[in-house]
Formats: sequence, C-alpha cells, structure tokens
Amino acid sequence: MGNPNLEELRAQVDALNIEVLEAINKRANLVQEIGKIKGMQGVIRFDPVRERQMLNAITDANKGPFEDSTIEKLFKEIFKAGLELQEDDNSKALLVSRKNKKEDTIVPVNGVPIGNGTPTFVFGPCSVESYEQVATVAGAVRDKGLKLLRGGAFKPRTSPYDFQGLGVEGLQILKRVADEFGLGVISEIVTPRDIEVALDHIDVIQIGARNMQNFELLKAVGQVDKPILLKRGLSATIEEFVGAAEYIMAQGNSQIILCERGIRTYEKATRNTLDISAVPILKQETHLPVMVDVTHSTGRKDLLLPCAKAALAIGADGVMAEVHPDPAVALSDAAQQMNLKEFDAFWEEILKSKLVPENIQ
Ligand code: PEP
Ligand code: MN
Repeated sequence: MGNPNLEELRAQVDALNIEVLEAINKRANLVQEIGKIKGMQGVIRFDPVRERQMLNAITDANKGPFEDSTIEKLFKEIFKAGLELQEDDNSKALLVSRKNKKEDTIVPVNGVPIGNGTPTFVFGPCSVESYEQVATVAGAVRDKGLKLLRGGAFKPRTSPYDFQGLGVEGLQILKRVADEFGLGVISEIVTPRDIEVALDHIDVIQIGARNMQNFELLKAVGQVDKPILLKRGLSATIEEFVGAAEYIMAQGNSQIILCERGIRTYEKATRNTLDISAVPILKQETHLPVMVDVTHSTGRKDLLLPCAKAALAIGADGVMAEVHPDPAVALSDAAQQMNLKEFDAFWEEILKSKLVPENIQ
C-alpha cells in the first residue's frame, strides 16, 4: 500500500483527461441540439441571463481547490466554444469572402479586367489642378499603352486651409481628358451627395483611407452600378478593411477593388508602413482584386519601384502611383509624386522586371 507512486497518479490524471474530454464533447452535442431548436424559433443564441445562472450554479457547487474566479474563467471558455459550434458556417461567411465565392471577382474598367491574373496600373496626379496638368499626365499614360488614370477632385486634407480639390470642376476635367485620351478614370468621392455627379463623370469611385469606415458613404456606394476602389483605413486592421468591403457588397454592389495603401505605425522612415503581407491575406480571404498604392504607402519616390515590384511579386492585381508634370508646384503631395521623366524610368524598370507580361495595360 502506502502512497501511490508517480506513475499511478499520472495514470489517474490521464484517465480523468479523457473523462473531461468526453464530458465537454457530450455537453457540446447537447448545445448543438439546443442551437437547432433556437435556430428554428429564431431566438438569439447567446443568452447572458442563462449564462449567469449556469455560472452561479457551478460556483455554488465548487468545493475547490480551484477559486471560483478560475472556475468561471474555465467554464466561460467552454460556453464560448459551444456558442461557436452553434454558429452555422454559412452565416459566418461574408459575401466578400472566398468561403462564399471561390472564383476571383474581375472588375472591368475601360476594357481592362482588374483581377484576372494580369496586373493593371493606375497613374495620375494626386489632385486635379487644371485641364493641361491632367492632359499632360494622360498623354504619358496613353503613350505607354495604359488605359487607367487617377486624379483627385475632392481631396480630404488634414488641414481645412489646404487645397480641397476643384470639386465638380475637377470631375469635368477628368471626364474631358478621359474621353480625349481613351482612358478610364478613378477619383475619390467623399460624401453620398456627390455620388450622382460622379456617376456621369468617372469610371471608378474611390473611397479614401479616411473614409474607409464612413458607413453611410459605404452603404451609398453599395447601391450604385459603378466599380468602387476601397482604400484601407489609416490604422484599419485587415478585418476592419474586409468589413468595410462587406458594407458595400451587402447593398448589392460587388464590383469592389481593395487597395492597400499603407498603415500608420511607429516607423517614421516612410509616410506609412506598406503592409505587403496584407495582399496575399486579402487574396486568400476574399475573392476581390487587390491593388497596392505605392505612393501613399511610402511617401518616398525612391521606394516606389521596389515596392511596386514587391507588390507584383506577392500577387497584387495592380499598382497605383502618383504622377505630376511638375511635382514641385503640386497643390498636394508635392514630395512624393513622380515627374514625367521619373514616370518613364519607373515604367521601363517595371517592364524590364519580367513581373508583367508584354503589351500590358
Ligand atoms: C489618394 O489616393 O488621393 C488619397 C488621398 O489616398 P488615401 O486615401 O489612401 O490617403
Ligand atoms: Mn496623394
């Protein structure tokens, strides 16, 4: 007799582990049954009053050695796991998620299929400043055989005293240039009020980083028949970014392009931190095309090319960058826009990189 030895104690613990396992799985089966009944009755599954009653009954019966607080914590975990089991996989799958739709969504803009496996490019000034300014960049874009142009008419600026954009006049300039040069145009809209005028003037409505969680704006652009380029918020998690896209799609608009544009971190060497791994994560978790804005993510001209290459190598569907005929006098983002010569050099390097097929658009 005497004290059981270590081996025996361990054998008892092993046996108890299996008993606990069987008990929690038996509980899970019952919880699933309850879930089915609640589902049929349309009752909300989580019931805090019932949880409190269960926890009280358990702690009342607790004879130790565990403290009541420890027992509560352990059982809360068991309850949570049970609830998750109740949640039907389908109701968890978002409209934008791969679980919901396996095939890639392709968003055609001006004849360019965005998201079909061939990378696409969007260049243009930060802000629309004049017809001549936009037309000059448009010429450089067209000369490269490219089909997409960007330019901001409504600029969400940090200071209310900074240039706010030309507004509707800017959209008119974009339309005129787009028609003359055969380009598709992407431009930011900052309020539901301007969506209607945008529909007549541009090909893609951009929702900027500062508005990624402007839910009324997201819902409003979800109701139109126009592609949306949704930029990641300044400090948005991937989950929040995906949630924002879901807001748009839930209203019926599935033509959404996601755009990683860098997030705010402690790093000061770049304007933002390009979260390059967000690209494959978004590609895996959603069926939407993913672009990378190398201008706003870096804020540095010397990083545009390496970051564009990184974006293409990691599977981005497109790259966006700002180009201005005379960046030194640009009304916004003067430091980070490429001039036309730099644009040519950038493009030559992209073509040389073999990351894009020949006759790219
Ligand atoms: C822009 O693309 O013009 C812009 C303002 O970008 P972001 O919203 O990403 O800052
Ligand atoms: Mn800009």
